[in-house]
Amino acid sequence: MSIIRVHDKQFEPYLTANEISARIKTLAGQLDKDYAGKRPLFIAILNGSFIFAADLFKELTMEAEICFIKLASYKGTKSSGQVITAIGLDTDLFGRDVVIVEDIVDTGKTLSEFLPQLKHQQPASMKIVALLHKPEATVFPIPIDYLGFAIPNKFVVGYGLDYDGLGRNIREIYKLVE
Ligand code: 5GP
Repeated sequence: MSIIRVHDKQFEPYLTANEISARIKTLAGQLDKDYAGKRPLFIAILNGSFIFAADLFKELTMEAEICFIKLASYKGTKSSGQVITAIGLDTDLFGRDVVIVEDIVDTGKTLSEFLPQLKHQQPASMKIVALLHKPEATVFPIPIDYLGFAIPNKFVVGYGLDYDGLGRNIREIYKLVE
């Protein structure tokens, strides 16, 4: 692996495909154990999590469901500022064991605004699995129950994550050269 270019920026290798898949197998093992006999509903947040969600889901051996949603933010009418809504969430969450699948938690803003909306539907439980987390960037603390990797506060691409639309199909994760 060496330095790559995406659009106008250079990125250096950070996590190999093998490191990612080994970590995902471990996470899947933990989930299988914790949710045995429960038939959880995984909710993957598009676009960034599509590869992670697919690879994680393939490793699970328990009975489980998965759906994919997209978050859209628009300006609220009152002082609330941005409002985040889920597009494509057509499953009733009442009484379900829900596992949110996110690619990366950065400031935590997205999930901190979105999770209360899901909790409103009264799932039996709600946990978060995230491939990446930037602890130093935290503004809104989010409890990440299953974490792939804690990473430095650097912009990353690959494995589903893009830089301005490109880079999602790179099999490894690269970080910005500054
Ligand atoms: P948060 O709301 O936690 O600040 O941001 C979460 C979202 O920002 C992620 O789901 C992702 O779409 C985007 N994001 C945050 N950091 C990065 C990064 O380093 N690379 C890419 N490609 N997207 C990021």
